Amino acid sequence: MWNFTGKSVLITGGGSGIGRQIALDFASNGANVAIIDIIEENGKKVLQELKAIGKGKYLFHKISVSDKKAVDQAVINIINEFGDLDFLINCAGILRDFLINKFNEDYWNQTIDVNLKGVAICMQAVVTQWVNKSLTKAKERGEKYLPVLENPPKVIVNISSMAADGNIGQLAYSASKAGVIGMTLTAAKELSRYNIRVHAVKPTLIDTPIIGDLLKKDDGKFKKMYEEKIPFGIGKPEYVSDVVCFLCSEGGFFLNGCVIPINGGKLDGL
Ligand code: NAD
Repeated sequence: MWNFTGKSVLITGGGSGIGRQIALDFASNGANVAIIDIIEENGKKVLQELKAIGKGKYLFHKISVSDKKAVDQAVINIINEFGDLDFLINCAGILRDFLINKFNEDYWNQTIDVNLKGVAICMQAVVTQWVNKSLTKAKERGEKYLPVLENPPKVIVNISSMAADGNIGQLAYSASKAGVIGMTLTAAKELSRYNIRVHAVKPTLIDTPIIGDLLKKDDGKFKKMYEEKIPFGIGKPEYVSDVVCFLCSEGGFFLNGCVIPINGGKLDGL
């Protein structure tokens, strides 16, 4: 469906759910794929799946996205191994829900650390490499900047959530996901001069391990409620991956700073 031959992608949270699906889709469409995940067992499993699908190079780094030193080093290693990096997909995330009157400071800190700071850390690590390369080339030519389209096209897609618009019990999560949108739009404005496009997607409820036993809760009543609330039903990881792949594809070359609701047809939040 897509042609990512000769391209390389880094996907955080690639060991499970949406990140895993994006990794498989990039691999089956010809890309070299690097994944970062905190769970070694899952990362290694996905690495095996990638090797079974494609003929590219595949890497797994077991690190936390909120560990700046580790991320900076991993990005350097990945670029050395692949020769370059074309796409960054920030997918790693955690859910730590609490009601406002039951504020949990540990949950708040953990959520912001991974979902918000983690995205900032991964963006800065990759963007620093891209910008340095561009500025070095410009300098060699005696110019301050390269003409925009002489930079090879690069794309960042950040996975936000419909919870960014507010959701009961998700004070920390919605703050982190709304923050991701703010960072996305800042990066989109700041980086367009380097031909770097930055987008966010806002999925509704997608059936992945992050929602844990929620779909089994109350004898399936919770699942039924969401199936009724979302016109096209509870989502699958593929529905998110398809949009991410489009944004990274050649067809997405004229887009920047898009915040796309992957909403299953529901227009008023989760
Ligand atoms: P998931 O739990 O299946 O995947 C999340 C992955 O992130 C896991 O592999 C986990 O190990 C990894 N991770 C967690 N903390 C990390 C860290 N500090 N460093 C590196 N990796 C870490 O869940 P998912 O549904 O695939 O979630 C992917 C993204 O989509 C998340 O950002 C999530 O908030 C977002 N999202 C999910 C839904 C949904 O309903 N599933 C809806 C909207 C947005």
